[in-house]
Amino acid sequence: MYQVTVNAEGKRCSAAVAFLNPILYRSNLTILTNIEVTQIVIQNHRAIGVLLQSGETIQVDREVIISAGAIASPKLLMQSGIGNAQDLKHHGIAAQCDLPGVGQNLQDHLMLMLPYQARQSMPIPEYLGEAGLFVNTGSDLVVDASDLQVHFTGNMQPLLGGQALGPVFFACPTLLKPESLGEIKLRSAQFDSPLAINPNYLNCDRDVDVLLQGIHLVRDLVHSDVMAPFLESELAPGLAADSQTLRSFIRSQASTIWHPSGTCKMGRDETTVVDSQLRVHGIDQLRIADASIMPRIISANLQATCMMIGEKAADLILHP
Ligand SMILES: Cc1cc2nc3c(=O)[nH]c(=O)nc-3n(C[C@H](O)[C@H](O)[C@H](O)COP(=O)(O)OP(=O)(O)OC[C@H]3O[C@@H](n4cnc5c(N)ncnc54)[C@H](O)[C@@H]3O)c2cc1C
Repeated sequence: MYQVTVNAEGKRCSAAVAFLNPILYRSNLTILTNIEVTQIVIQNHRAIGVLLQSGETIQVDREVIISAGAIASPKLLMQSGIGNAQDLKHHGIAAQCDLPGVGQNLQDHLMLMLPYQARQSMPIPEYLGEAGLFVNTGSDLVVDASDLQVHFTGNMQPLLGGQALGPVFFACPTLLKPESLGEIKLRSAQFDSPLAINPNYLNCDRDVDVLLQGIHLVRDLVHSDVMAPFLESELAPGLAADSQTLRSFIRSQASTIWHPSGTCKMGRDETTVVDSQLRVHGIDQLRIADASIMPRIISANLQATCMMIGEKAADLILHP
C-alpha cells in the first residue's frame, strides 16, 4: 500500500500547506503569489537578486535559491545567461557562465496502462493509485534499486476515455530507470516563449524491454489464483498480440506520470550544474533545490524526495 501525504480530512497536502502555512506569522517571511521570476540578476559571477514579471527587482542579502522545478529551473538559468554558451549566443543572451549541462539529462517515468475487464464491480479508489509493486527486471532488488513499478487501481472509468465497459481494473507497468535522456532548450530569449522540450521517450530499446517485461509480469499476476474471482479478460493489448505488436503498443501508449527531473544535475564533471551543496557551478550565491538536481531519477514517485531535497537545502544553508 502506498503512503500518501494527506491531511486529517484525507485531502492531499501540498508542500506549501505542510511547510509554509505553519510559519506564515514569521516577520522574516514574505510570500508573493501569482507572480513569476523572469531572471536571476547576476553581477560579477554573483547572484544578487531576482527580476519579477512586474519589472521589480528583489535584492538578496545572502543568496538566491531557485525551486522552480525540472522544467522551469533550467529555463530560468538559461534566460539568465547560465547554460550552453553557444546556444545562449544563438538567442542573443550574454553568457554569464558556460554550463552545457543546463537543460540536459531530462528523465521521467513512463507508465503503460493495461485495462482489464473485471468479473465483479470494483470499488472506486480513494486515491488514484492505492497500491503498487516495485521489482527489478534485471537483478535482485537487494542488490539494485527497482527499475519497474506496477501501479494498481480499481474502477477508474474516466481513464478509458468515457467508454462504458462495465467493471474494470488497471495494472500499470511503469519504467523507473530510463536510459533514454531528453533535453530542454530555449526557443527564444523571451521569457513567455514556450520551451523546446524533447523528452526522447523510449529512444533506447532497453526501456521498451523493461516495459515488455512489465506486461508479462502483470499478466502472471492477474492470471494468478487470487485474481481469478476478479479477472474477466485483458482489454488491451489483448493476449493474442505478438511481441512486435506489444512493442508497438508500448511505444504508442506509454505516457508520462509527470516526474520530470535531472535537468540541473548535481555532480563534479562538466555535464553537471550544481555541486553537493546545491550551489550552481561558477556563480556565487545561487542554489537550486528541486527535482532538477537529481543526477538519476529515483526509483519511486518523486514528491517525498523533492521535499527532502528542500529539507537538506535548509540544513546546508543553516549549517554551512
Ligand atoms: C499531476 C501530477 C501528479 C503527481 N502525483 C504525484 C504523486 O502522487 N506522488 C509523488 O510522489 N509525486 C507526484 N507528482 C510529482 C511531484 O509532484 C513532483 O515531482 C514534485 O512536485 C516536483 O517538485 P519540485 O519542487 O521540483 O517542483 P514543483 O513542485 O513543480 O514546484 C515548482 C514551483 O515553482 C513555481 N515556478 C515555476 N517557475 C516559476 C517562476 N519563473 N517564478 C516563480 N515561480 C515559478 C511553480 O509554479 C511551482 O509552484 C505528480 C506531479 C504531477 C504534475
